Amino acid sequence: MSAVSTTDRLIHPHGGTLVDRLGERPDDLGSLETVQLTSRELSDLEMLASGALSPLEGFMDQADYESVLESMRLAGGLPWALPVCLAVDGPPQGDRVALADESGRPVAVLDVEAAFDYDKEREAEVAFRTTDAAHPGVERLYAQKPMYLAGKVTVFERTVPQFPELAKDPRETRAIFAERGWRRVVGFQTRNPIHRAHEYLTKVALETVDGLLIHPLVGDTKSDDVPAKTRVECYRVLVDGYYPADRVVVSAFPAAMRYAGPREAIWHAICRKNYGCSHFIVGRDHAGVGSYYGTYDAQLIFDEFEPHELDIEPMFFEHSFWCKVCGSMASAKTCPHSGDDHVFLSGTKVREMLGNGEEPPVEFTRREVADVLIEAYRS
Ligand SMILES: [Zn+2]
Repeated sequence: MSAVSTTDRLIHPHGGTLVDRLGERPDDLGSLETVQLTSRELSDLEMLASGALSPLEGFMDQADYESVLESMRLAGGLPWALPVCLAVDGPPQGDRVALADESGRPVAVLDVEAAFDYDKEREAEVAFRTTDAAHPGVERLYAQKPMYLAGKVTVFERTVPQFPELAKDPRETRAIFAERGWRRVVGFQTRNPIHRAHEYLTKVALETVDGLLIHPLVGDTKSDDVPAKTRVECYRVLVDGYYPADRVVVSAFPAAMRYAGPREAIWHAICRKNYGCSHFIVGRDHAGVGSYYGTYDAQLIFDEFEPHELDIEPMFFEHSFWCKVCGSMASAKTCPHSGDDHVFLSGTKVREMLGNGEEPPVEFTRREVADVLIEAYRS
């Protein structure tokens, strides 16, 4: 079932085995009750199918759900940071249901284990650390249907990827890493264009390992994030011009953003382990939004696990910048000079410049990336 080489020296998938929930379209599909999934649930389903959420084989039951909220572990004790649940109006009649995408097209079946009640405010408080409905993840949670439906899934129709050339399942990234002879691979999660600061930290990380997986999230994001198409073009021009091709893989991460900050950082790391990454970059306010999380919360939360429990090694980074005196990229960890010597531009300032067709200083953004963004602002 799995094409993963048993002779590679890559990190093992979370829980030991890469899950594969792909199967045949069942004959009795037409007679099954249908549950229509939201875009977030569809992203989760897609990741269950590919093994990105190994060892999960379906949407969580109550024991796993409660255990994840209480202790950031599945009921069996394996670390897991966020619920992966399917919300429904009520218990279905039969013991199997069809799962449909947003257009109503059936894509999977679920073998019903149980339906259970859940407390939205409690889940918000624990998973998002806030019950504020203005938080985009909490807002989505509050809009969900009132019960969760648990059961294993079998996916027979994959989601058509937005970027087919970047769509790689965990078994495929693992095969690429193995073929290149990599053992230590660092994953970089991003939902923004890569400016010099991010280029710097990915390269600092790459100096210590065999390869780099640039793994931009292309699932649902907030409407004010830069569109995925523009971001993907930024990654392409940056990698073509400034990274050695044989040390880097760019591939899409099909998850939907939850904006759960610290817990999402753990969840992102576990997913990347399934893709074959031994290391994972965690910057300031990873997966955060607004001012809901402390700057270092997403790094500190890793201390709640023993190192061997997660297996994948987090690599923590500070905010970095170009220092005119150092004559290089640096951070507060490596540069003793004052802020006046640093090239700093606020996000607002950068957007303003790009909107006016101006290139930000090359110490801040590579020309090729700036040009892609200026073009995107024009259209
Ligand atoms: Zn300096």
